[in-house]
Amino acid sequence: MSHKMELRTRAVGEWQMNAHVLVCPVTRESVLIDPGAEPDALQEMLAETHPVAILITHTHPDHIGALDEMQARLNVPVMAHPGPHYEGMTLSADRWLNHGDEVRVGEHRLRVYHTPGHIGDMLCFAIVGDERIIVGDAIFEGGPGKTESAEDFQTTLRTLREIILAWPDETVCYPGHGPHFRLGDQRATIEAFLAHDHGEFFGDATWNM
Ligand SMILES: [Zn+2]
Ligand SMILES: [Zn+2]
Repeated sequence: MSHKMELRTRAVGEWQMNAHVLVCPVTRESVLIDPGAEPDALQEMLAETHPVAILITHTHPDHIGALDEMQARLNVPVMAHPGPHYEGMTLSADRWLNHGDEVRVGEHRLRVYHTPGHIGDMLCFAIVGDERIIVGDAIFEGGPGKTESAEDFQTTLRTLREIILAWPDETVCYPGHGPHFRLGDQRATIEAFLAHDHGEFFGDATWNM
């Protein structure tokens, strides 16, 4: 693919959650990923594009705070993992996304990865034929997403080993909070983290523990 997708990122709301817009440069079709807050700002991000879907990385409130409003404004299908969702909430999506599914955006495609741990419905969206992946709160530059139980933390470890570390070094991860980073730059630290016995730990982890 000669024309790469355009990526627009903006931190919105009190948790400074990164909302993303991906645009096909040929057709100008776009997707909005994680309508967390500030609908007017999200609408601005979509300027001069044709929105075709709203994608949800996971159902934590900081990522879906403006979902109802954006759904009403854009009138496009909402796509998310079938769950279970955050605290048993009922999410009405138009399309449920599972591991390995693809979402078409103009002449481009996004590949869906299910990456549970931080929460059970966590998805990552990789641009096919491109090094960029929208990773939600699955992984940050400094550590994995916070977990609520020892079981969830073990799930995170499995996700890191089986899915995230299987991505190539040149992968650039765009998380739900904070800066993007190159996976290869963190690989050795993540492998060292996985080599440690973390016992019954859960919560906010950093790679150097
Ligand atoms: Zn989250
Ligand atoms: Zn978040």
